[in-house]
Amino acid sequence: MNTTAYPKIDGSTAGPFLERLFELYADMDSKYGQAAEHYGFSCSGCLENCCNTLFYHYTYIEYMGIEKGFAALAGDDRIKAKESAADVCRKIDKALEERTQPWFMCPVNRDGRCLLYESRPMICRLFGIPHELSKPGGEVVKSPGCETFSIAAGQKTYYRFDRTDFYYRMAKLESALRQAHGLSGKIKMTVAEMILSFD
Ligand code: SF4
Repeated sequence: MNTTAYPKIDGSTAGPFLERLFELYADMDSKYGQAAEHYGFSCSGCLENCCNTLFYHYTYIEYMGIEKGFAALAGDDRIKAKESAADVCRKIDKALEERTQPWFMCPVNRDGRCLLYESRPMICRLFGIPHELSKPGGEVVKSPGCETFSIAAGQKTYYRFDRTDFYYRMAKLESALRQAHGLSGKIKMTVAEMILSFD
């Protein structure tokens, strides 16, 4: 379990980076929405909830974005999310130790609703719909949608949902933030670990 509290960056200097993050998120949501519309696909009522999938997040900028969303929650929601995050971290650690598939629900999923919806990280925004990625050498790698997508809309004609620009812009933003604030070292955290690391 990694619950390192990463350096707090002064709000006035973090602001412009967070603004860029939320602009990027808006572009992802817009492009995702177009693809979902093409397929007539919606996540609502999904039983294969991606919120119980083990995702790691690798950037300071998304750590800060989630921290911002978490700080805006009501005190009671923060307390409950922390309790739930501790439980989730224990379950994940146990499953990793036993080399089994962890089963848990993200600590900020409350009755199917994401408490951090506006601040949810990139993978939560892009998951589910088939996508492609252009590698530096020009090779294009295509990946399928989630299981629910395959059942509901897998037969429909392909819509080009290219994640390359999103990854590129996220990497550029992360690099600019690190450079401006002298941040180094790697991050690899689940949302649960991040929540435990917040004040
Ligand atoms: S942050 Fe929100 S959308 Fe992402 S896994 Fe957690 S509850 Fe689901």
